[in-house]
Amino acid sequence: MNIKILPRLLSEIRQLRKHETWTRAQLEASQADALRQLREYAYAHSPFYQKFHQGLTDRPLNELPVLTKAMLMENFDELVTDPSIRLEKVREFSSGNVDKQRYLDSYLVTATSGSSGHPGFFLFNESEWITVIASFARGQEWSGAKVNLLRRRRMATVASISPWHMSSQVAVTVKTPSTPSIRIAASSPLENIVKQLNAWQPNLLIAYASMSRILAEEQLAGRLHIAPEKVFTSSEVLTDETRRRVKAAWGDEPFNQYGATETADIAAEYKLCRRMHVFEDLLLVEVVDQQYRPVPRGEFGTKLLVTTLFSRTQPLIRYEMNDSVRLSAEPCSICGLPFTFIDGVQGRMEDALSMPGIKGGQLLIQPLVFNRVMDILPVSGWQVVQETDSSLTVLLSGARNGIRDEAVSDAIRKELTLEGAIIPLIKVQHVTEIPKSASGKAPLIKSNVPQDRKIV
Ligand SMILES: [Zn+2]
Repeated sequence: MNIKILPRLLSEIRQLRKHETWTRAQLEASQADALRQLREYAYAHSPFYQKFHQGLTDRPLNELPVLTKAMLMENFDELVTDPSIRLEKVREFSSGNVDKQRYLDSYLVTATSGSSGHPGFFLFNESEWITVIASFARGQEWSGAKVNLLRRRRMATVASISPWHMSSQVAVTVKTPSTPSIRIAASSPLENIVKQLNAWQPNLLIAYASMSRILAEEQLAGRLHIAPEKVFTSSEVLTDETRRRVKAAWGDEPFNQYGATETADIAAEYKLCRRMHVFEDLLLVEVVDQQYRPVPRGEFGTKLLVTTLFSRTQPLIRYEMNDSVRLSAEPCSICGLPFTFIDGVQGRMEDALSMPGIKGGQLLIQPLVFNRVMDILPVSGWQVVQETDSSLTVLLSGARNGIRDEAVSDAIRKELTLEGAIIPLIKVQHVTEIPKSASGKAPLIKSNVPQDRKIV
């Protein structure tokens, strides 16, 4: 770790802890103040926001236009608040040697994989980066794993090993002799992942939700022999069945984290209530429908708009994320945190399948519809692949107890009928391992149908 930033990091972590004892009124006052400062800064330094919010600078947040990733990338050079930042140069920098230095000697660069069509670059100055690191530390601390830089803890992360992935960048910054960590490519063969984990014996394990389930299966089958104190999952919907299997393997359910390269950690599960509280002292979230209309608490939206209160280099105000989540209608009565919590995640719009409906038009079928059927099957892994508008393939790995293929397709047919979809041809196929994407995720739902036809 860069020793210079350590005192500032510790101070930021302490500061965040104080926010957790705020009342709701204190939190809201702080949010209003931070939002005002963010907007003033953006209007003073970002030519893009000067135009984008023209005539609206004194309007409330929910009346401002929505910023999409495509817009952000198209207007990159005008949106950033340092005129010496150039997208073209950032691209050049990121194709070079990562360990070398920061862009313009000042900025950490992270990039989104571009799985949703538009690769994005996100820059953080040192002060913003310290907040990012502190937000990840909070996510870990909330599990009860106290952040103690002196206690030796071995960490293993099974995820993308792209050096531009935000978690890779965080790992580089916080690497210390007391927390030795390894990063294993989730895309490598399962056998290798198991071998490396057995040799490393991590105290903390961080993995994609789909990977945590696969690893739990390996542990239960006696091939993996590790005893992590805590398991953290991220990046994908964590199903109840994955929770159960991780608990069966290592004694406790995983702590789920919800974050993004653009915004750092957004929410994390808290030890007392096991609910996913939003880091509302660092960002504002708005749950909206497809037309960006607000969705009441207690109901699922189709998108999430995020305003990152600490962003200055690249201000994010009402930034669109394609996540379908539900905010709890009531405050948490168990833990006392002032922050609201997410009581349901349906997944990303990208994970939903667009299928023709019996009444005409296209329906959006959320991953949860399939989870209801697939998650209770005695299999170690599954994937539903939409081949065409009228056919689905269901992949199953490690099926036990003489599972009947017809029972699986019947159950899916029943769920899709309830959704009002035209029933596709369903083929069940047994595989040794669920194929993974380039980044190593084994998505539960996948579509080979051209994405531009989706209603988004
Ligand atoms: Zn709580």
